[in-house]
Amino acid sequence: MAIVEVRDLRKEFGGTTATDGINLTTRDGEYLVLLGPSGCGKTTLLRLLAGLEQPTEGDIVIGGQVVTNLPPRDRKIAMVFQSYALYPHKTVRQNIVFPLAAAHIPRPERAEKVSWAADILGIERLLDRKPRELSGGERQRVALARAMVREPQVFLFDEPLSNLDAKLRTSARDELKDFQQRVGITTVYVTHDQVEAMGLGDRIAVLNAGRIQQLGTPEEIYSDPANTFVATFVGAPPMNILRTGGQLLGFRPENLLPLEWSGKQDGQLVCRLEITRVENLGSDHYVYGTIPSLDPEAKVISKIPTTVPLVGTPNSSETYVVARDKLRYFDPETGERIP
Ligand code: ATP
Repeated sequence: MAIVEVRDLRKEFGGTTATDGINLTTRDGEYLVLLGPSGCGKTTLLRLLAGLEQPTEGDIVIGGQVVTNLPPRDRKIAMVFQSYALYPHKTVRQNIVFPLAAAHIPRPERAEKVSWAADILGIERLLDRKPRELSGGERQRVALARAMVREPQVFLFDEPLSNLDAKLRTSARDELKDFQQRVGITTVYVTHDQVEAMGLGDRIAVLNAGRIQQLGTPEEIYSDPANTFVATFVGAPPMNILRTGGQLLGFRPENLLPLEWSGKQDGQLVCRLEITRVENLGSDHYVYGTIPSLDPEAKVISKIPTTVPLVGTPNSSETYVVARDKLRYFDPETGERIP
């Protein structure tokens, strides 16, 4: 296991700044997720860690050693990509053994390591199959086994679940988390999928435009976003943001509730919601509307479990409330959170 440290890391491609002064320190054995929209620099940061790109400025330290100028093979990292990149004509066993053979590990030791990884991942019975005879989830396990046998200090994952369908994705996510908890290897995991980030990460680094916007636990990122970018990027539907009284007011859709069943509380925000549309998503109703008394321009959403009575219909207006401790305030100029 190892701590990964990134110091003032900047990478420019011609005129494009892909990462712009990134500072980051993982904990030992931590699952750190890099989350952000397309083009924010996630993959570039991961490739810099792997040694597949050279930084324009800054340093990378893995396990106490400065590795900035070391080639990928000397960094004690293992990288698992989207495509898994298994060799189609080799068996699972040959795929897993390949990096060991390439590193001239003696044969008996190779066999031992393959058994060890296959056992941890539960793929012993697949060892003589070819990749095309495997499901997407099984292929993922093989790719993990192949990454594991080198006994890396750090795992790097680049959207490894993005090729799987929605159902398989959920079970594969579950397996990945389980795997990480068993092996406890420091992991840096790139995704643009916030559900994946929230489910997998011990901590999440939210990136935008090559910079870290916030680094925190899923709970911190969700409940106490550092700025309006994080507030609206994380959460579906996103945080409601209204421009009112010279500041930006934010609250999560699930915290905008009908007064009728939320009840009166000290300091709560009380408002009239002009309802434009109601959607039933199975587990929740989404009630869309505006709050003209606060910000006539901003569209807001209330998310209410379908297990409780729906209050309001399109083209009606109802009294809704937000509890005081659920209100967040932001600077209207910078978008930064006001404590
Ligand atoms: P995605 O989720 O779409 O993969 P990302 O967050 O991983 O996006 P990066 O691939 O790291 O983003 O790209 C960050 C920025 O750097 C983008 O503007 C991209 O166009 C640019 N970039 C990345 N690689 C190169 C390259 N080899 N040459 C030129 N520009 C590049």
